[in-house]
Amino acid sequence: SVLKSIGLGLLVRQYGSLSQLHKYYFGFPGEILMRMLKMVILPLVISSMITGVAALDSEVSGRIGLRAVVYYFSTTIIAVILGIVLVMAIKPGVSHEADNLDRTGSTPDVTTVDAMLDLLRNMFAENLVQACFQQFKTKREEIEPSKPAANTEVPPSVTVMTTLVPEVSNITKDYKIVGLYSDGVNVLGLIVFCLVFGLVIGQMGERGRILIEFFDALNEATMKIVHIIMCYMPIGILFLIAAKIIEVEDWDIFRKLGLYMVTVLSGLAIHSIIFLPLIYFVFVRKNPFTFFLGMAQALLTALMISSSSATLPVTFRCAEENNMIDKRITRFVLPVGATINMDGTALYEAVAAIFIAQLNNYVLDVGQIITISITATAASIGAAGVPNAGMVTMVIVLTALGLPASDVTLIIAVDWLLDRFRTMVNVLGDAFGAGIVQKLSKKELERMDLTSDVDVVNPF
Ligand code: ASP
Repeated sequence: SVLKSIGLGLLVRQYGSLSQLHKYYFGFPGEILMRMLKMVILPLVISSMITGVAALDSEVSGRIGLRAVVYYFSTTIIAVILGIVLVMAIKPGVSHEADNLDRTGSTPDVTTVDAMLDLLRNMFAENLVQACFQQFKTKREEIEPSKPAANTEVPPSVTVMTTLVPEVSNITKDYKIVGLYSDGVNVLGLIVFCLVFGLVIGQMGERGRILIEFFDALNEATMKIVHIIMCYMPIGILFLIAAKIIEVEDWDIFRKLGLYMVTVLSGLAIHSIIFLPLIYFVFVRKNPFTFFLGMAQALLTALMISSSSATLPVTFRCAEENNMIDKRITRFVLPVGATINMDGTALYEAVAAIFIAQLNNYVLDVGQIITISITATAASIGAAGVPNAGMVTMVIVLTALGLPASDVTLIIAVDWLLDRFRTMVNVLGDAFGAGIVQKLSKKELERMDLTSDVDVVNPF
């Protein structure tokens, strides 16, 4: 189906003389697929999180949660280190050719501090209904640098602070925070609420059971809708990709950014074909490539639509039906993973930031490399599972290095392509994570099976 869509795209590109309007119509069946997938995200995340957590007792869910977080964090760090090693070895930005890339446009200024505060802010949604369609981000505006009055002495602590964290000086000197703006669905806020809600109703006994059954039925119904959507998927994907191929205007940019793309793609390939399967094998002792094949449909969907969140329905199906992962694990590990565990994005952030540094002839010291590891991890956690989110949060890494945030524009032209591949790795990382956490939690799950009345406490 991928080849067919590329073929169709090239064919129409070659022989069809499509006007702008026709191109737009051509992509319409793809747009419908995206709309359908997004439609089920909300009921799916809510019902799976609530029933997933409610089915476990709080001690077990705490342990499973901890394992998942340790897995997310360690694989993300591995991905970042891999990215750094590759980009330092291949040096894609040191070539002179890439130097004549346009540096145009500007991006909103985001800093690590803002991004972290935004992350926390969105975790605690002030309004659940609003969280279904809006999250908030800090909006900053540049102001004239204010000169310190001649006789004011800067306290030593402030000097130390501004040297250690360059952004602190940005906050006090060049910017003011002008408020918040809204952007996308606040999945994180919903997850946090559902987690607590699930835990609470899981402890409520008889009365909580009505709610658990309600959300379990909602989950089942949503998955049935996912089955229907998947019948339409081949058609939607065909047009989605073909329309993209028709639309790309500047093929030359691929030559200019070739080595950079090779670096990102080889990093993603090494992480997904060697590192993740190896980690899976070490813990689970099963063939990781069988698991890989089981996830094929989800990976392909991620590649086509570049959104972990919108792929979530398919990820669930593949993990549960093909790879037989316990629903009590998937319901918990997959939605959280789709939001915060992004190995592909983290790797990309590190490569892209160092690539831009190389273009600027900027020599990085060890401290800055550590800064990149930390901020790239943070930026991947902060990125939402939607197309191009990683490129926006990359501004965090750039500002932490003191590079112009607007240099993100240098790599925008190829992001639509890299985004697809990193999303695929993001989804794969979540799936392997579910497999590993299931294996590590085997004892707890078995104990629960023995002690609980299957129909009552564990509705699966
Ligand atoms: N599109 C990616 C995802 O959904 C996020 C990113 O832009 O890196 O996982």
